[in-house]
Amino acid sequence: MAAPRLVPPAVVDPSVTDALRAEVRAFLAEQQAAGAFTPSVDAWLTQWDEEFTAALAARGWLGMTVPVEYGGHGRSFVERFVVTEELLAAGAPVAAHWIADRQIVPSLLKYGTESQKSHFLPRIVRGECFFGIGMSEPDSGSDLASVRTRADRVVDGWSLSGTKVWTSGAHRAHAFIVLARTAPVDRADRHAGLSQFIVDLRGTGVEIRPIISMNGDHHFNEVILDEAFVPDEMVFGEIGNGWQQVTSELSFERSGPERFLSTFVLLASTTECMATQGISHDAELGRLVARTAGLHQMSAAVAGALQRHDQADIPAAVVKVLGTTTEGDIADFADRHAGGDSHYADLVSHAIDQRPGFTLRGGTNEVLRGVIARGLGLR
Ligand SMILES: Cc1cc2nc3c(=O)[nH]c(=O)nc-3n(C[C@H](O)[C@H](O)[C@H](O)COP(=O)(O)OP(=O)(O)OC[C@H]3O[C@@H](n4cnc5c(N)ncnc54)[C@H](O)[C@@H]3O)c2cc1C
Repeated sequence: MAAPRLVPPAVVDPSVTDALRAEVRAFLAEQQAAGAFTPSVDAWLTQWDEEFTAALAARGWLGMTVPVEYGGHGRSFVERFVVTEELLAAGAPVAAHWIADRQIVPSLLKYGTESQKSHFLPRIVRGECFFGIGMSEPDSGSDLASVRTRADRVVDGWSLSGTKVWTSGAHRAHAFIVLARTAPVDRADRHAGLSQFIVDLRGTGVEIRPIISMNGDHHFNEVILDEAFVPDEMVFGEIGNGWQQVTSELSFERSGPERFLSTFVLLASTTECMATQGISHDAELGRLVARTAGLHQMSAAVAGALQRHDQADIPAAVVKVLGTTTEGDIADFADRHAGGDSHYADLVSHAIDQRPGFTLRGGTNEVLRGVIARGLGLR
């Protein structure tokens, strides 16, 4: 494989992105002043607020890259990057639409049938349709090809049975895309015989059991599929092509600004706190700010690559490893320097609670280091 390269950002007129950035900042300041949200750490995973999602949809900031013929805004990945970066930096509650907007949109555009695109895309753009991801299983995480959920052919569709786990937001989302085995394991090619299905989370044969986090929050679920019927129209992509489809989504899932900005609100608050304590210099704080600035450039470069339809899986893995490590280091730094008001204390404790997930979700950092090493031709 060719050595990965970090590509320069796509050329988008900076006056367009600067104006957009200013518009989003003004909107967020208004929303915050109106009490619409309180900035939160890891808000893209934990802060589900359908009203806020509707307000973003009204501004045209959902489904930005969806073509106009599917109800979208036909804008670039770089413009979407600018909007999402501002939302994350403000700690805005964007969990409701995050998965649909980030990865279901590009997947549908690439693999969806005409009727799936016409049905789901306009609803995602309007902030009316939320999705989950049905990949992990109790014995299948990093080694995703080992999934045991089975899809058996029945009249007019498929019957799915198995257990999915760690399904973020399944109790609130409308549908999730399930990776299942449609043919027995072929020892010569473990990635063959896998397929994807769009499954209605409120359908029969689908049971959603909450998994409550240590701090009492509920965003994880276990989803049990017991002969859940999926009509032929909801087969996603091609039967047997599931592995290739899943892996092609990963650059979208791994490279975005949510991989380095989950604790940005805390970094900003810590800086303010230290300033009020009269601390004007801190080398460690400086390093964290510099790392964040570097990650902004790298993640923007991947957004540019995605816009040009360039291969970006290795750079995306690099962004995710470095970005999620930085997010955790910010949480630790704030924890060591804690000493603000009760809102600040809440931010710190939420960041510490969420920290273990940063380097696990979307592929663990150990596994991603393997991906990077292989991409560099080291293994
Ligand atoms: C916050 C959060 C949200 C999530 N949301 C979803 C979701 O919505 N939908 C979904 O399907 N899943 C979701 N997941 C699950 C996530 O994708 C898995 O946790 C992840 O892929 C790891 O799988 P695992 O937990 O089974 O760990 P395992 O794969 O069992 O790994 C255990 C440990 O072994 C290490 N390891 C495993 N294989 C290797 C290897 N080859 N080389 C080196 N080290 C290795 C791992 O790095 C890890 O440290 C979520 C997870 C988190 C934390």
